[in-house]
Amino acid sequence: MELIIAIVLTALLSSAISFCLTKEKYKTVRSTLTAEKMQEAEGKLEKFYSENNITEPTLERVEKALGIIKVEHNPKLKSRARLTECSNNKYEIELKSQLNTIPSRFDIAHECGHLINKDKTLYGVERPTHGQKNEHEQFIDYMAAAILMPENSVAKKLDEKNYFALDKKQKKEIILDMAREYRVDEVTVLRRIYEVRTRALSQDG
Ligand SMILES: [Zn+2]
Repeated sequence: MELIIAIVLTALLSSAISFCLTKEKYKTVRSTLTAEKMQEAEGKLEKFYSENNITEPTLERVEKALGIIKVEHNPKLKSRARLTECSNNKYEIELKSQLNTIPSRFDIAHECGHLINKDKTLYGVERPTHGQKNEHEQFIDYMAAAILMPENSVAKKLDEKNYFALDKKQKKEIILDMAREYRVDEVTVLRRIYEVRTRALSQDG
């Protein structure tokens, strides 16, 4: 009898955990940004690229243009990333995640977003690890995804693959391919596809 109770409890607990995880994942995809805000972010990036003669944006080129001279792994960090100005217009980023990993690339791109957006409170700008982000952080996350997956490149790829006419399984393959190519996670790919699609539809209409 006790064994049965234990099994039932374990099953209930694990399904509750998996429900919470799915909900958490959904939260990271869900964005409340309006088409106007997306346009504002793309406009800021476009201006930054043209001022710095960046024709094919990559995270490395963006870092260099922004004067990010050091990226360090700091496992003791309370938040995911921290940006500090170490000398005039030279910056350092500390990351909770291991260097050269997919999460570290997103976190670097996020901090780059703060710099491109010319956020005044650079010191102590930190990423919350839990809960729904405020609108400004979502705006910066949009910029981060846009740096890692430039709009023109993504739009061209979706067009070439005729993505929206594919079935679920074929779409999944493209998503995995894109995650490998852009070195981002699948959630970022999904989100970026949704954003690029939303923008294309709002510009057509
Ligand atoms: Zn931030």
